[in-house]
Amino acid sequence: MAGKTALIVFAHQEQKSFNYAMKEAAQAALRRKGWKVLVSDLYMMKFNSVLSRDDITGSPKEPNKFKYGAETLIAWKEGRLAKDIMEEQKKVEMADLVIFQFPLYWFGMPAIMKGWVERVFSMGFAYSFEAMYSEGPFKNKKALLSFTTGGPESMSSPKGINGDINVNLWPMQNGILNFCGFKVLEPQISYAVAHIPQEARVGILNNWEKRLETIWEEKPIKYVPIQDFEGLSGGFVLKKEVVEARSDDKYGPTLGQNLGKPLPPDSQVKSESTRL
Ligand SMILES: Cc1cc2nc3c(=O)[nH]c(=O)nc-3n(C[C@H](O)[C@H](O)[C@H](O)COP(=O)(O)OP(=O)(O)OC[C@H]3O[C@@H](n4cnc5c(N)ncnc54)[C@H](O)[C@@H]3O)c2cc1C
Repeated sequence: MAGKTALIVFAHQEQKSFNYAMKEAAQAALRRKGWKVLVSDLYMMKFNSVLSRDDITGSPKEPNKFKYGAETLIAWKEGRLAKDIMEEQKKVEMADLVIFQFPLYWFGMPAIMKGWVERVFSMGFAYSFEAMYSEGPFKNKKALLSFTTGGPESMSSPKGINGDINVNLWPMQNGILNFCGFKVLEPQISYAVAHIPQEARVGILNNWEKRLETIWEEKPIKYVPIQDFEGLSGGFVLKKEVVEARSDDKYGPTLGQNLGKPLPPDSQVKSESTRL
């Protein structure tokens, strides 16, 4: 994929960890295919994951009634965001593909990575009311979550004690990635990596490298295009005709827009092209 750029946003403290091995594998596999690979190693960078007034430089517009979103929007427009935010935003701008590599912590991404999202995907740069979801600023980019878990896959099944992994994925994949416009590729989930045989771990690394060889050709997970929703005055709900067109369907269009029907199986782990 000569000419394409990937950004790996990586969150693990240890270089002997399996997550580190996944990050290294991705970097090597993509580079072999001609990708330029940028890495944000968040713990190594000691990335500041806490939002504050210091995220803008210069004087706030309303120091006595500081509103983070409004102030960072103006600062972004005027090139006055903090240096570390602007550096990460530059990397995102350069990237065609963004990979988030992390261990699952409390059903989500580690706090340092969530803080990266909160500070770097700032209003205006990553989203606005005018440009969000399928019309979001990153609509020509692709992104995927690659994460490891403590528990085995069965725990995260629809009958498992943690509940359906699809439900778990919705806030990260829809609420962050799809919201900013990214085409969301199937997540790379490496279950129970500390509790499986060494050969299985080597197999995961090999499969990951193999997948990355053709990652750019993959079909994304399907979300409802923003045109199918009413605008702000209509409350951003699905248009009547869209709901009517789905009235005989067994499932709603997505896990979130489920129309009170059974949740579509595998909808957050597989794109339509790989679902059975
Ligand atoms: C705060 C917190 C919250 C958590 N919340 C959740 C949760 O909500 N849900 C959940 O399921 N889990 C949870 N966990 C568990 C966590 O997700 C796992 O511990 C983590 O995903 C394991 O990944 P790791 O990279 O740290 O593995 P490691 O323990 O670093 O590695 C696993 C094994 O891989 C080996 N290895 C390393 N490199 C290689 C290589 N190159 N080739 C082959 N083997 C290699 C290591 O030696 C080790 O034996 C949580 C953990 C914490 C600390």
